[in-house]
Amino acid sequence: MRIRSENGKLIVPSDPEIVYIEGDGVGHEITDKMRAVLDSAVMRSYGRSRHIEWVEALAGGKAVEKTGSSLPEETLSLIKESLVAIKGPLMTPVGKGAMSLNVALRQSLDLYACVRPVKYFDGVPSPVRHPELVDMVVFRENTEDIYAGIEWPSGSDEARRVIAFLTEGMNVSRIRFPETSAIGIKPVSPDGSKRLIRSAIDYALCNRRKSVTLVHKGNIMKFTEGGFRAWGYEMARDEYGAEERDGRIVIPAGWGGVEIKDCICDAFLQNILIKPEAYDVIATLNLNGDYISDALAAEVGGIGIAPGGNINYMTGHAVFEATHGTAPDIAGKDIVNPLSMILSGALMLEYIGWDEAAALISGSVSKAIATGRVTRDFAVLMRKEGREAEELSTSAFAQSLISIIES
Ligand code: NAD
Repeated sequence: MRIRSENGKLIVPSDPEIVYIEGDGVGHEITDKMRAVLDSAVMRSYGRSRHIEWVEALAGGKAVEKTGSSLPEETLSLIKESLVAIKGPLMTPVGKGAMSLNVALRQSLDLYACVRPVKYFDGVPSPVRHPELVDMVVFRENTEDIYAGIEWPSGSDEARRVIAFLTEGMNVSRIRFPETSAIGIKPVSPDGSKRLIRSAIDYALCNRRKSVTLVHKGNIMKFTEGGFRAWGYEMARDEYGAEERDGRIVIPAGWGGVEIKDCICDAFLQNILIKPEAYDVIATLNLNGDYISDALAAEVGGIGIAPGGNINYMTGHAVFEATHGTAPDIAGKDIVNPLSMILSGALMLEYIGWDEAAALISGSVSKAIATGRVTRDFAVLMRKEGREAEELSTSAFAQSLISIIES
C-alpha cells in the first residue's frame, strides 16, 4: 500500500510501496544489493509482519532505452503518488542546456532539504586522527542560493543588460570589470531558509541532539547569508521559544535543551578538523552545504560510505540516494563499495519510522567492516595504514553483510 502524508506526518502501512530507480553505471551493481540488504533487515526485525513493496521507476539510460526519455513523466507521477523513493546515481547528460536528472527530480518535487548524516564506522580508513569524534547531520538547503541557476555568460547580451541595470539604475559602482563580467544571482529567502532550519531543529528535537549550528558567510553577504542566520535565530525564538541561558541561545526541552548557535563557513571548515565534537546538527545554505558535506564525508571514509536523502518534510516527498556518481571507471567490475547506497536505504527506513531495521543495518555495517573483509576502495586504504584487509567483490561484501544481519 502507499505511504500517505497527513498534516506533515507520514502514515506508513505494514507493506509500503517504495519506488526505486536503479541508476546508471555502478547503479546496476549497488541498487539490487541495497534492496536485498533492506529486505533482510526488515525480515529479521519484524518477521512477516512488515515488508517493502518495491516498485521500479525508470530514469537515466534504462529509461532512454525503454521510453526514449531520460526522465519519463510516469516516473515523476509514481514518486509523487508513492512519496518515498530511493535512487542509484544517474549520469548527467553532457551538453548545453542539459539539466541534471537529479536536479530535475529535486525541483519537480520541491525537495528542499538535502539531509546527510555523517558518522564514523569503526575501522573505516580515514585521513584524520580522530574520525570517531565526527557525528553530525547536515541539512543543506536545496532550492535557492547560486544553485537557482540564474546566471549569464561573460559578453552575453543578458549579462550586459543586467550590468547596465545595476550601474545605471541602481548606482552600483563596484563591478571591477563591467565590460566582461559574467553575472550570477543568489536568491535567499526567509521562506526557503526557515523551512530548512525548521526541519533541522525538528530533527534535533526528535533525535535528542545537543545543538543546531547555522553555518553561513554573513560577514560578507549580509542580506543573503546574514539573513539566513538572522531568520534562523528569529524562528528559534518565535516558534520554539528559544531563550538566552548563560550566554547561549537554547530551546528548552526535557533533556537539557537544544542549543542554537552559528558559525562562519570558513571557520567551520577549520573547526570540523580541529574540534568536530563541537557540532551536531548543521543547517546551511546550498553552496556551503555542498563543500561541507564532501569535507565531512572525507573525514569519515569518503564517498563510498556517504548516504543522503532529499526531503520535503511538508509534503512527505523524499528521494534517498547514494551521494557518489555513476563511477564509470569502475562500473561493471563488481568492485564498487555498495555502502553509500545501503546506508541511504537505512536512512530511508529511519524516515518511515522503521528504526529497528535501520539500526540493525548500521550495527551490521560496523561488524562487517571490523572483519577487515571489505571492498577494494577500503582494502587499499586499510593496507596503507598497515592493517590487514581482504578484498571482497561488491556481491561478496553485500552477502557477508546479509549473513551478519541474519546471524
Ligand atoms: P563519481 O562519484 O562517479 O566518481 C568519482 C571517483 O570516486 C571515481 O574514481 C569513482 O570510481 C570513485 N567512486 C565513486 N563511488 C564509489 C564507490 N561507491 N565505491 C568506490 N569508488 C567510488 O564522480 P564523477 O566521475 O565526477 O561522475 C560520474 C557521473 O556521475 C557524471 O555523469 C556525474 O554527473 C554523475 N553524478 C551523479 C550523481 C548522482 O546521481 N547523485 C552525483 C555525482 C555525480
